[in-house]
Amino acid sequence: MMVARLAWRQRFAPIPTGFVTVYDNDAVANEVDVSRCTRLFEADIECVRARVAHEWQPSLHPHHPPVPRSVAAMTEPWKSTTEGRHLAGRVKVSTQPELALRAALHRAGFRFRLHPRIAKGCTPDLVLPRHRLAVFVDGCFWHGCPQHGRKAPWTGPNAELWAQKMTRNAERDARSTKLAQDVGWTVVRIWEHEVRTDVDAAVGRVRAACLGESPGAEAR
Ligand SMILES: [Zn+2]
Repeated sequence: MMVARLAWRQRFAPIPTGFVTVYDNDAVANEVDVSRCTRLFEADIECVRARVAHEWQPSLHPHHPPVPRSVAAMTEPWKSTTEGRHLAGRVKVSTQPELALRAALHRAGFRFRLHPRIAKGCTPDLVLPRHRLAVFVDGCFWHGCPQHGRKAPWTGPNAELWAQKMTRNAERDARSTKLAQDVGWTVVRIWEHEVRTDVDAAVGRVRAACLGESPGAEAR
Protein backbone atom coordinates (compact mmCIF):
# COMPACT_ATOMS: atom_id res chain seq x y z
CA MET A 1 0.00 0.00 0.00
CA MET A 2 2.99 2.29 0.34
CA VAL A 3 3.19 2.90 -3.38
CA ALA A 4 -0.45 3.90 -3.40
CA ARG A 5 0.03 6.28 -0.51
CA LEU A 6 3.01 7.93 -2.16
CA ALA A 7 1.17 8.31 -5.41
CA TRP A 8 -1.88 9.67 -3.65
CA ARG A 9 0.00 12.87 -2.99
CA GLN A 10 0.63 13.55 -6.65
CA ARG A 11 -2.60 14.95 -7.92
CA PHE A 12 -1.72 16.83 -11.04
CA ALA A 13 -2.99 14.92 -14.02
CA PRO A 14 -6.54 14.36 -15.22
CA ILE A 15 -8.02 11.00 -14.42
CA PRO A 16 -9.55 8.85 -17.12
CA THR A 17 -13.31 8.47 -17.10
CA GLY A 18 -15.61 5.62 -17.98
CA PHE A 19 -14.54 2.01 -17.93
CA VAL A 20 -10.99 0.81 -18.03
CA THR A 21 -9.67 -2.70 -18.32
CA VAL A 22 -7.35 -3.76 -15.56
CA TYR A 23 -5.37 -6.94 -15.87
CA ASP A 24 -4.64 -8.61 -12.59
CA ASN A 25 -2.02 -11.22 -11.73
CA ASP A 26 -3.98 -13.98 -13.37
CA ALA A 27 -4.21 -11.92 -16.54
CA VAL A 28 -7.89 -11.57 -15.80
CA ALA A 29 -9.33 -8.57 -17.55
CA ASN A 30 -11.52 -6.67 -15.15
CA GLU A 31 -13.62 -3.84 -16.43
CA VAL A 32 -13.56 -1.19 -13.80
CA ASP A 33 -15.68 1.91 -13.64
CA VAL A 34 -13.18 4.61 -12.81
CA SER A 35 -15.79 6.46 -10.82
CA ARG A 36 -15.47 3.52 -8.43
CA CYS A 37 -11.77 3.99 -8.08
CA THR A 38 -11.85 3.61 -4.36
CA ARG A 39 -13.34 0.20 -4.81
CA LEU A 40 -10.71 -0.60 -7.41
CA PHE A 41 -8.02 0.33 -4.96
CA GLU A 42 -9.49 -1.60 -2.10
CA ALA A 43 -10.03 -4.72 -4.14
CA ASP A 44 -7.35 -4.77 -6.74
CA ILE A 45 -4.48 -2.67 -5.53
CA GLU A 46 -2.27 -5.63 -4.76
CA CYS A 47 -2.93 -7.24 -8.12
CA VAL A 48 -2.60 -4.04 -10.06
CA ARG A 49 0.56 -3.04 -8.24
CA ALA A 50 2.32 -6.18 -9.32
CA ARG A 51 1.60 -5.32 -12.92
CA VAL A 52 2.19 -1.65 -13.04
CA ALA A 53 5.32 -1.49 -10.88
CA HIS A 54 6.06 2.18 -10.32
CA GLU A 55 3.99 3.69 -13.06
CA TRP A 56 1.33 5.78 -11.49
CA GLN A 57 -0.79 8.43 -12.99
CA PRO A 58 -1.52 11.08 -10.41
CA SER A 59 -5.05 12.25 -9.96
CA LEU A 60 -6.30 15.82 -10.14
CA HIS A 61 -9.26 15.25 -7.97
CA PRO A 62 -8.49 15.68 -4.28
CA HIS A 63 -10.88 12.90 -3.31
CA HIS A 64 -9.81 10.54 -6.04
CA PRO A 65 -6.98 8.07 -5.70
CA PRO A 66 -4.37 8.14 -8.44
CA VAL A 67 -4.73 5.73 -11.30
CA PRO A 68 -1.90 3.51 -12.44
CA ARG A 69 -0.53 4.80 -15.73
CA SER A 70 -0.76 1.45 -17.34
CA VAL A 71 -4.42 1.28 -16.39
CA ALA A 72 -4.98 4.44 -18.37
CA ALA A 73 -2.84 3.03 -21.15
CA MET A 74 -4.93 -0.13 -21.22
CA THR A 75 -8.16 1.78 -21.47
CA GLU A 76 -10.49 0.03 -23.85
CA PRO A 77 -13.44 1.90 -25.22
CA TRP A 78 -16.13 0.22 -23.14
CA LYS A 79 -19.29 2.24 -23.34
CA SER A 80 -21.33 2.51 -20.21
CA THR A 81 -24.82 1.25 -21.00
CA THR A 82 -27.96 1.02 -18.92
CA GLU A 83 -28.08 -2.70 -19.67
CA GLY A 84 -24.58 -3.23 -18.44
CA ARG A 85 -24.72 -1.04 -15.36
CA HIS A 86 -25.52 -3.93 -13.03
CA LEU A 87 -22.36 -5.71 -14.15
CA ALA A 88 -20.03 -3.02 -12.91
CA GLY A 89 -18.32 -3.81 -9.64
CA ARG A 90 -19.82 -7.26 -9.55
CA VAL A 91 -18.83 -9.83 -6.96
CA LYS A 92 -16.18 -12.18 -8.28
CA VAL A 93 -15.31 -14.22 -5.23
CA SER A 94 -17.68 -15.89 -2.83
CA THR A 95 -20.62 -15.63 -5.16
CA GLN A 96 -23.97 -16.98 -4.09
CA PRO A 97 -23.54 -20.36 -5.85
CA GLU A 98 -20.08 -20.63 -4.32
CA LEU A 99 -21.48 -20.00 -0.86
CA ALA A 100 -24.24 -22.56 -1.42
CA LEU A 101 -21.77 -25.20 -2.55
CA ARG A 102 -19.47 -24.49 0.37
CA ALA A 103 -22.32 -24.85 2.84
CA ALA A 104 -23.43 -28.13 1.28
CA LEU A 105 -19.89 -29.50 1.20
CA HIS A 106 -19.39 -28.55 4.81
CA ARG A 107 -22.64 -30.24 5.81
CA ALA A 108 -21.45 -33.35 3.98
CA GLY A 109 -18.33 -33.36 6.11
CA PHE A 110 -15.83 -31.98 3.63
CA ARG A 111 -13.18 -29.57 4.84
CA PHE A 112 -11.58 -27.19 2.41
CA ARG A 113 -9.56 -24.06 1.91
CA LEU A 114 -10.83 -21.04 0.00
CA HIS A 115 -9.18 -19.34 -2.92
CA PRO A 116 -5.64 -20.59 -2.47
CA ARG A 117 -3.19 -19.96 -5.27
CA ILE A 118 -2.04 -23.46 -6.15
CA ALA A 119 -0.06 -22.36 -9.20
CA LYS A 120 0.83 -19.07 -10.78
CA GLY A 121 -2.32 -17.97 -12.51
CA CYS A 122 -4.48 -20.63 -10.91
CA THR A 123 -6.69 -19.83 -7.93
CA PRO A 124 -9.54 -22.32 -7.54
CA ASP A 125 -12.64 -21.30 -5.63
CA LEU A 126 -11.88 -23.95 -3.07
CA VAL A 127 -9.55 -26.89 -2.62
CA LEU A 128 -9.67 -30.09 -0.63
CA PRO A 129 -5.98 -30.46 0.16
CA ARG A 130 -6.31 -33.99 1.54
CA HIS A 131 -7.60 -35.17 -1.81
CA ARG A 132 -5.55 -32.72 -3.81
CA LEU A 133 -8.77 -31.65 -5.40
CA ALA A 134 -9.42 -28.19 -6.85
CA VAL A 135 -12.99 -27.01 -7.31
CA PHE A 136 -14.10 -24.16 -9.53
CA VAL A 137 -17.66 -22.85 -9.50
CA ASP A 138 -18.30 -21.27 -12.87
CA GLY A 139 -21.01 -18.69 -13.34
CA CYS A 140 -23.26 -19.63 -16.25
CA PHE A 141 -23.07 -16.20 -17.82
CA TRP A 142 -19.41 -15.31 -17.44
CA HIS A 143 -18.07 -18.73 -18.21
CA GLY A 144 -20.38 -19.42 -21.10
CA CYS A 145 -22.42 -22.37 -19.87
CA PRO A 146 -23.75 -24.38 -22.84
CA GLN A 147 -27.27 -24.15 -21.44
CA HIS A 148 -27.36 -20.60 -20.15
CA GLY A 149 -24.44 -18.85 -21.77
CA ARG A 150 -25.08 -16.39 -24.54
CA LYS A 151 -25.56 -18.08 -27.89
CA ALA A 152 -26.69 -15.15 -30.00
CA PRO A 153 -24.01 -12.80 -31.28
CA TRP A 154 -23.29 -9.87 -29.03
CA THR A 155 -25.01 -6.63 -29.88
CA GLY A 156 -24.71 -3.04 -28.78
CA PRO A 157 -21.78 -0.65 -28.54
CA ASN A 158 -19.55 -3.17 -26.73
CA ALA A 159 -20.40 -6.22 -28.87
CA GLU A 160 -16.87 -6.83 -30.05
CA LEU A 161 -15.43 -6.34 -26.57
CA TRP A 162 -17.93 -8.72 -25.06
CA ALA A 163 -17.09 -11.39 -27.60
CA GLN A 164 -13.39 -10.96 -26.90
CA LYS A 165 -13.93 -10.99 -23.17
CA MET A 166 -15.92 -14.20 -23.25
CA THR A 167 -13.28 -15.85 -25.40
CA ARG A 168 -10.62 -14.77 -22.92
CA ASN A 169 -12.70 -16.13 -20.05
CA ALA A 170 -13.00 -19.52 -21.72
CA GLU A 171 -9.30 -19.58 -22.48
CA ARG A 172 -8.48 -18.66 -18.91
CA ASP A 173 -10.70 -21.46 -17.59
CA ALA A 174 -8.96 -24.00 -19.79
CA ARG A 175 -5.58 -22.61 -18.78
CA SER A 176 -6.25 -22.74 -15.05
CA THR A 177 -7.56 -26.29 -15.31
CA LYS A 178 -4.36 -27.28 -17.06
CA LEU A 179 -2.14 -25.38 -14.61
CA ALA A 180 -3.76 -27.20 -11.68
CA GLN A 181 -3.46 -30.57 -13.36
CA ASP A 182 0.17 -29.91 -14.21
CA VAL A 183 0.99 -29.61 -10.52
CA GLY A 184 -0.92 -32.74 -9.67
CA TRP A 185 -4.38 -31.50 -8.71
CA THR A 186 -7.59 -33.10 -9.81
CA VAL A 187 -9.95 -30.43 -11.13
CA VAL A 188 -13.71 -30.34 -10.75
CA ARG A 189 -15.53 -27.53 -12.52
CA ILE A 190 -19.11 -27.06 -11.43
CA TRP A 191 -21.61 -24.86 -13.23
CA GLU A 192 -23.58 -22.33 -11.28
CA HIS A 193 -26.80 -23.99 -12.50
CA GLU A 194 -25.72 -27.35 -11.10
CA VAL A 195 -25.47 -25.77 -7.66
CA ARG A 196 -28.76 -23.93 -8.08
CA THR A 197 -30.77 -26.89 -9.33
CA ASP A 198 -29.29 -29.75 -7.30
CA VAL A 199 -26.58 -28.87 -4.84
CA ASP A 200 -26.45 -32.46 -3.57
CA ALA A 201 -25.58 -33.69 -7.04
CA ALA A 202 -22.82 -31.11 -7.18
CA VAL A 203 -21.52 -32.37 -3.84
CA GLY A 204 -21.77 -35.86 -5.30
CA ARG A 205 -19.42 -34.86 -8.10
CA VAL A 206 -16.91 -33.60 -5.59
CA ARG A 207 -17.24 -36.79 -3.56
CA ALA A 208 -16.79 -38.95 -6.65
CA ALA A 209 -13.66 -37.02 -7.57
CA CYS A 210 -12.31 -37.49 -4.03
CA LEU A 211 -12.85 -41.21 -4.35
CA GLY A 212 -11.06 -41.10 -7.65
CA GLU A 213 -14.10 -42.15 -9.59
CA SER A 214 -14.54 -41.37 -13.23
CA PRO A 215 -11.15 -39.81 -13.69
CA GLY A 216 -11.14 -37.46 -16.61
CA ALA A 217 -14.83 -36.85 -16.30
CA GLU A 218 -14.43 -34.28 -13.53
CA ALA A 219 -12.60 -31.73 -15.55
CA ARG A 220 -14.99 -30.25 -18.00
ZN1 LIG B 1 -25.80 -22.94 -16.72
